[in-house]
Amino acid sequence: MTVNPARDDDLGTRTVFRTCPLCEATCGLEIELVDGTVKRIRGDREDVFSRGFICPKGSTLKQLHDDPNRLRRPVVRTGVDERGAPVFEEVDWDDAWRRVDELLGSVREAHGNEAVGVYLGNPNAHLLASSTHLRQVIKAIGGGAVFSASTVDQMPRHVASGYLYGSGAHMPVPDLDRTDLLVMLGANPFASNGSICTAPDFPGRIEAVRERGGRVIVVDPRRSRTAEAADLHLPIRPGTDAVLLAALVHHILATGQSAPGRLTEWVDGLDGLEARLAPFTPEVAAGVTGIGADRIRALADEIATARSAAVYGRIGTTTVEFGTLATWLLDVVAMVTGNLDRPGGMMWAQGGHERVREQKPGRGYKVGRWRSRVNDRPEVQSEFPAADIPDEILEPGDGQLRMLVSFAGNPVLSCPDATRMDEALASLEAMVSVDVYINETTRHADVILPPPGSLEKSHYDIAFYALSVRNVANWSGPVFEREGPAEEDILAKLALIALGFGPDADPALMHDQMITRLLQTEVDDPASPVAGRDLDQLVAMVDGDTGADRVLDALLRTGPRGDGFGADPDGLSLARLREHPHGIDYGPLEPRLPGLLRTADLRIDLWAGPFADELTRLADSLEDRAGDGRLRLVGRRHLRSNNSWMHNVEVLVKGKPRCTLQVHPDDAADLGVVDGGAARVTSRVGEVVAPVEVTDAVMPGVVSLPHGWGHDLPGIRLDVAREHAGVNSNVLTDPEAIDPLSGTAVLNGIPVEIAPA
Ligand code: SF4
Repeated sequence: MTVNPARDDDLGTRTVFRTCPLCEATCGLEIELVDGTVKRIRGDREDVFSRGFICPKGSTLKQLHDDPNRLRRPVVRTGVDERGAPVFEEVDWDDAWRRVDELLGSVREAHGNEAVGVYLGNPNAHLLASSTHLRQVIKAIGGGAVFSASTVDQMPRHVASGYLYGSGAHMPVPDLDRTDLLVMLGANPFASNGSICTAPDFPGRIEAVRERGGRVIVVDPRRSRTAEAADLHLPIRPGTDAVLLAALVHHILATGQSAPGRLTEWVDGLDGLEARLAPFTPEVAAGVTGIGADRIRALADEIATARSAAVYGRIGTTTVEFGTLATWLLDVVAMVTGNLDRPGGMMWAQGGHERVREQKPGRGYKVGRWRSRVNDRPEVQSEFPAADIPDEILEPGDGQLRMLVSFAGNPVLSCPDATRMDEALASLEAMVSVDVYINETTRHADVILPPPGSLEKSHYDIAFYALSVRNVANWSGPVFEREGPAEEDILAKLALIALGFGPDADPALMHDQMITRLLQTEVDDPASPVAGRDLDQLVAMVDGDTGADRVLDALLRTGPRGDGFGADPDGLSLARLREHPHGIDYGPLEPRLPGLLRTADLRIDLWAGPFADELTRLADSLEDRAGDGRLRLVGRRHLRSNNSWMHNVEVLVKGKPRCTLQVHPDDAADLGVVDGGAARVTSRVGEVVAPVEVTDAVMPGVVSLPHGWGHDLPGIRLDVAREHAGVNSNVLTDPEAIDPLSGTAVLNGIPVEIAPA
């Protein structure tokens, strides 16, 4: 096995460099090892992208690696104890695979293939093996019911991009390092370190905007840390961002400030905007959003007249009823002001693994190619809403889900109506999880297959180098030898079992097939750098110790910066990345239109999706949205947390409890709740009791509870998290509240009642 490039000395000390896999920021880490154990982790000052930045989570890879609760070997469920908690027994890998084969076989035989569903959690986006292999596993399992954390997060971004640019993967990011005006809606990068925008040291980059004379504006119902650091914070009623954005465009058009510039060459439908946005005057938007009409006009003027402006929206704009419309409107703002695809505006990164082809028309973006069984929801990006999982499991009938295969996911904490989700998973005939913990979700599994720990596998951010504010590439090898099979071997074996090859199938079969197919496509493509080359020779040249590394090498070498398998000796390859342990910087983002477009006519049609109807639906709902006087619940993120998966690290959860219900002082007085007391929070579907934190950081009428907590269920093996359990905010989220265009759950702006407890 190739170990991570390292500096050694004579004292048993070794220093290795590695990209942090814990969030989207992709920071470089310098890891000092003494006698084979991690002594210290700090930011890698030579990393080409992060330049030494590190957050508190990054330095805890040692604790994660050493965590006694982390599974090192597979476990199978053998029964339940007297408290009803599941009992697991460690088994060897051969026994685990036999059990998986039996479970899958018996469910398929009794109920058919459509009875097997898949759930993919957020960490998969950070895993090289998932990026290279997961699609093959899903295809092999083939039941059609696929759910993921995307529909409790960013699916609106995929859908808006799909309709506008022809691919759900083409998501523009703010050109942070060059913008003159950064406007952030529903985003808190001081806590998240950035999302759908890969930017190590996001806070430093925000500060740099101001240092170079630019401005930073935050629109958020909470005065988050990001809002505190901004030039201007505009509190907004939850779930009303689409109305604000529509009013911004309305004002820009009404005042003749529209200046799409070169975009008019490719964008159709700009002339239809004015009429369709007519209902969204700043005055109307003021009544809905709570932001004054003059303030809205001033914001629109500022965006329209800035030398460059990046208007960026995240979770607060996507996990709401009009999330896809809001995302589309963000891009419309960029288009009418000429800020799409220009330095300082919203741009696209280009990952070194991206497929480069001559521009060819796509087939047109489609959703609803098949529909869900119970709620008749359209498939979006080949998925159904995660909010529908309980119905698909609990509602009887043909196609009822009887088995779930979950990959690094914890839907009991992260998806709506958590109580029913828990009940649904408990009712399954079989469940297999690929996970390193027995958590609130995997406690229902019959078999848990643990992949290697974070320091035991190689790393390359396939997903995030396509969402990055600079074009970079960085690969790191494993720091330690792994104890069990490689992650991609687990995925490949699962796929092979699902395809009927049995529990003894060799995962190499799948890796070899993937590489051969990938290179065959390249050889057959006249635009490929390896067009017409000898396939066997190319396959023999592929580098890498593991299946995922080998697939990555093939992708990089045939990608836009690749060495073309020798055609360009200075080009990108795994070998070249090994020589650059601090990464390779390919410079700032570059304009990519029109080459990036994959629409059917290679143009951008603003009205290609159902956005005209959605604007009408939003206009029709304006009266209701002006405020019904009910309290609205929003989530929040903390720097030391990452959804539910960093809560078993003592150093990250110790101190003042963070899972509190934030209430504005005026609301607290009205409701009779007090700081440090407890409040009962009730929604249409559930109820929790949470400690109260009275603070003016939330606007009146809004309360906030962080997500990812609630570690007090029987049977979980998370000793630290259990001591800091908190409450599960998703007990309160309503599975019927969904953005209909993307199937994304409404996690922000949930109507709730509050009373002293
Ligand atoms: S910001 Fe993200 S990538 Fe950087 S050290 Fe923290 S967790 Fe790791």
